[in-house]
Amino acid sequence: MKKIRLGRTDLEVSRIGMGGIPLQRPSEENAVKLIKFALDQGINLIDTSRHYGTSEERIGKALKGRRDEVILITRQSLMDGMTAKKNLQQSLATLQTDYIDVWEFHNVGKEKYENLLKPGSAFDVAKQAQKEGKIKHIGITSHCFETMKKAIISENFDVVLFPFNFVNNEAADSLIPLAKKLDIGFTSMKPFAGGRLQNASLVMKYLMQFDDVIPVPGFEKIEEIEEVVKIVEGNYKLSTEEMHQIDLMKKDLGKKFCQWCGYCMPSCPQDIYIPGVINLKVSYNLWPQGDFVANYQKEVNKAKKCIECRICESKCPYSLETVNLLKKGIGFFDSIAQL
Ligand code: SF4
Ligand code: SF4
Repeated sequence: MKKIRLGRTDLEVSRIGMGGIPLQRPSEENAVKLIKFALDQGINLIDTSRHYGTSEERIGKALKGRRDEVILITRQSLMDGMTAKKNLQQSLATLQTDYIDVWEFHNVGKEKYENLLKPGSAFDVAKQAQKEGKIKHIGITSHCFETMKKAIISENFDVVLFPFNFVNNEAADSLIPLAKKLDIGFTSMKPFAGGRLQNASLVMKYLMQFDDVIPVPGFEKIEEIEEVVKIVEGNYKLSTEEMHQIDLMKKDLGKKFCQWCGYCMPSCPQDIYIPGVINLKVSYNLWPQGDFVANYQKEVNKAKKCIECRICESKCPYSLETVNLLKKGIGFFDSIAQL
């Protein structure tokens, strides 16, 4: 598979990476097979997180004897130095490796970003780990446009991960060219908009138009890898008919789904995890379903205490009716909990 340079890291990465979330869903044996199959197809970038259940563990098992073939990205979300250090040690042990190519800060919103750069914080831990050779490069992930813009401009990070697909494409004219100008590697999450886009050909062909963006789709089956690799290695020029189809889908979905940017959350008087609850159905379809009820019960109980003040709606840049969406999320959860 064609390789491109991951910005200032100078790492040569395959045109697409492999996302770590769905690796939790198959049996361990099948997940290991899936990872090895992806490597055999020329995918050399694996992107995971300390917070993706068994994902790191399975990757560690699959990479035994093949570590040198792979550019490994993992991350953790805690911003205090001590916990971040512990998380890094755990990632190294679980992934069975001496070093991580890119260690990132996971899902950083506005407030977390301010804490991240304070003395003694996780960022200092990353710098120290870099000196010790435990990590090679530092990255950051966010769903929040403003935070990501700040992070790129700061030049504190070598690689970023941000949502990007043909429906949610606000990065196209701003963040992507900015990252390119500053020579920062741009990896993109949610190529299928969290399962809302189904047509792999349109999804991947669209993303391939951006030479410096490395999408990291998640795979659960061998056939999914085969399908995507075929598209990426083929002629991904979009025909007029395909562009028309994309336009229609964009109009249909519009911006009318939660982008998980988190702008609505800080002002909620009930401290409700608004995007988490709104997106419960998406999470159910992407993450291991066995743990679903236990994992979200607490957040759903909190969401049931919504006082409908609608402060969140006034903060949502996509003008979503968050209160109604919360009710739908809760309804979906309750229907699953009763099964
Ligand atoms: S409407 Fe509900 S979720 Fe929104 S800010 Fe008020 S209490 Fe929080
Ligand atoms: S409801 Fe709106 S503001 Fe809140 S996370 Fe979703 S898109 Fe962002």
